[in-house]
Parts: sequence; C-alpha cells; structure tokens
Amino acid sequence: MKYFVLDRGDSLSRSLTGQFHALAASRGMQLSEDEPDVVLSIGGDGTMLHAFHVFKERLDSIAFVGIHTGHLGFFADWKADEIERLANLMAESGSRLQDKIVKYPLVKIELTTSFGVETFLALNEFTLKGADATLVAQLNINDSPFEMFRGDGICISTPSGSTAYNKSLGGALIHPSLEAIQIAEIASINNRVYRTIGSSLILPKHHHCDIVPKKEQKVVLTVDHLAVPHTSVLNVRSMVAERKVSFARYRPFPFWNRVREAFVGDDVK
Ligand code: NAD
Repeated sequence: MKYFVLDRGDSLSRSLTGQFHALAASRGMQLSEDEPDVVLSIGGDGTMLHAFHVFKERLDSIAFVGIHTGHLGFFADWKADEIERLANLMAESGSRLQDKIVKYPLVKIELTTSFGVETFLALNEFTLKGADATLVAQLNINDSPFEMFRGDGICISTPSGSTAYNKSLGGALIHPSLEAIQIAEIASINNRVYRTIGSSLILPKHHHCDIVPKKEQKVVLTVDHLAVPHTSVLNVRSMVAERKVSFARYRPFPFWNRVREAFVGDDVK
C-alpha cells in the first residue's frame, strides 16, 4: 500500500506526519508522492481541500483520509490520538482498500472568458461574487432563462460542501450519496424592482446552470479555498461532475452523525 501525507505545516501537524511515517514504515507501507493509493491530510478541512486540489488529476486512483488537529472536521474525521489505530487499519486493509471506499459527487465548472474555456472541479463549492460592486448576472437553468440576479454573489456547492459555506447561506444539507448540486444566493437584492427566487435550488445530475455576468464586470471566482479575480467572464456553467472523489472509510462515521456532532452537539436535551 502506497501513501502520501499532506499536512497544514504547523508544529502539531508536522509532528503527526513524522509519527505517521514511522508507524507506516514499521507496517510495510510505502511512501509515494507520485502514485499513492491513499493520501492522508493532517490539519483541518482546509488541509483536505488543499490535498484534493494537489491530487485532482489522479482522483480515479486515490482515496483520501483526514486527521484533524483541532475540532472535528467534516473531511478530517480522525483525531490526532487515533493515529496509530488509523495506521493499523490502513496497513490491514492493504489490497482490500476498494471495500473501504465511499465516493462523493463533485461540481464541475466550465468558465468561459474572452481567452477561452477552462474547466475546474470543486470539492465544496464555487462562488461567483462581484469584486467591488453588486454582482449582476443572468441565471439560466438548462438553457432557459430563470432570473436576473443582483446581490453579493452565487454559491454552487456539492452535497459534501452543503455543510460548509452553503449552510451559512441557509442552504439545505444534502447527503453525499445524492448526485446533485445546490445553488444558493449570497445576499440577493429583493424589492419591488428586483426579484430572485430567494430559496436555494437543488439540481440533479445532467442538469446545468449558467451564470452570465453583466459585461465587463469585475468578479471574483472562488473554487473551494482558492480565489481568482476576473474582468472577462462571459459565462460560468456548472453541473455535477462525471468524476467523483473517493474517501477511505476505515470505520463507519455516518454523514448525519457528523452533522449532529458538528452543529448540534451532545448538550442539547
Ligand atoms: P477556513 O479555514 O476559514 O474554513 C472555514 C470553515 O469551514 C472551517 O471551520 C472548516 O472546518 C469548515 N469547512 C470546510 N469544509 C467544510 C465542509 N465540507 N463541511 C463543514 N465545514 C467545512 O477556510 P479554508 O480552510 O480556506 O476553507 C475554505 C472553505 O471555507 C470554503 O470551501 C467554504 O466552504 C468555507 N467558507 C465558509 C464561509 C462561511 O461559512 N461564511 C465563507 C467563506 C468560506
């Protein structure tokens, strides 16, 4: 079994990386940056987002697993003091890794600018926001006009990203076994003159949404933790990606349990 570790770079996560290398070596696992079977992220959910983007070209052959060094994360769902148990389970599963894998949907974006078309994949979400003014954009669903949006921006998330930015926007939490994307508004303007739907929309696989910003607007496109300013966006098309991300689940940790632990807690009567 070949593995690679990406950590957040702070002293705790670096020391855990050192510990993991020692545990892995004594259990016959091989360190490989080029062809890992499993990528371990040590830090928080942000570290997993980083790991995903580093290895996004190899999604078909890699499974991710995360250790968190702070509070329980959504992608980083092993605690630092469980590192030895995780190393044992990783070594034991060896060639039976496929039995431990869960696959979650991603969102694909086709960004058309005056320079051409670029494709991006996001694990959590992408957003399109006005850079220094209100975003004004036509929203089309499956090539039919839906609404003219005015507001701070639009967030399009995956089911596993539904618990992240999307949740802060009042979007629904979606189980990652559902192949869907969710469109949530970021502070839309609604009054007698301007009108948007006001609810988040959930699109199934094979549907697509186009966001067509008003000409020559300064916008910022974010893809997970990455942000890129643009002045020449002609269209942003989003849909459920054909490719999925694999997570190695060495023990069951159902999505709804994670939601409860993260957002409700145990103190609630
Ligand atoms: P960060 O460190 O500020 O992370 C923000 C928080 O989002 C952290 O607490 C992290 O644990 C949590 N998070 C990330 N993915 C999650 C998921 N799938 N489910 C539940 N919580 C999740 O920023 P970062 O590390 O650069 O992460 C970028 C992410 O931050 C973006 O993908 C976006 O989802 C999130 N974000 C949230 C808001 C908001 O809630 N208002 C605003 C901007 C970005």
